[in-house]
Amino acid sequence: MPVALYPGSFDPITNGHIDIALRASNIFLKVIVVVADNPQKNCLFTIDERLDMVQESLKQIKNIEVIRFKGLIAECVDKYEASVIIRGLRALSDFDYEFQMAFTNRELNSRADTVFLMPSVEYTYLSSTMIRQIAQLGGEVRGLLPDCVRKKLLEKYEQSKK
Ligand code: ADP
Repeated sequence: MPVALYPGSFDPITNGHIDIALRASNIFLKVIVVVADNPQKNCLFTIDERLDMVQESLKQIKNIEVIRFKGLIAECVDKYEASVIIRGLRALSDFDYEFQMAFTNRELNSRADTVFLMPSVEYTYLSSTMIRQIAQLGGEVRGLLPDCVRKKLLEKYEQSKK
């Protein structure tokens, strides 16, 4: 199974995302991390910032490529001739949403199958939303995301205080 797409908002990328990308890179010949350019999503970071942080965080892994994409992931599958879509499953709470998305993607493109991977147990309750909330309230997020991303996150909240 040569190419897998790993789509997400990555707002910002966390150690949980990295864990999933690494696992996928050990299974598939090539993993394309797709940073969603979705203006409706109201992200903290711009698409360029998210793309840069993902690239910086995954640059050591030779069979990972990082792209931005605007549009349906089901179409992206054909464009990049991918075999599967990778999604991370943490707790049961992810299941309903991910289940709906997986079926919707296959409805849109019969080739768009989803493969779910589980992160290492310490990342089970880690999400970008939680990290943003902790950082905004002045909490410590060290160890939950790469240092370069942590720096950008702290800068972002510093800027917003000015
Ligand atoms: P989206 O807006 O598409 O859900 P996210 O960046 O929040 O984008 O998540 C992208 C994918 O990464 C999703 O499949 C999500 O479940 C997974 N993911 C996010 N955080 C973790 C984590 N800590 N462990 C495992 N998977 C995760």
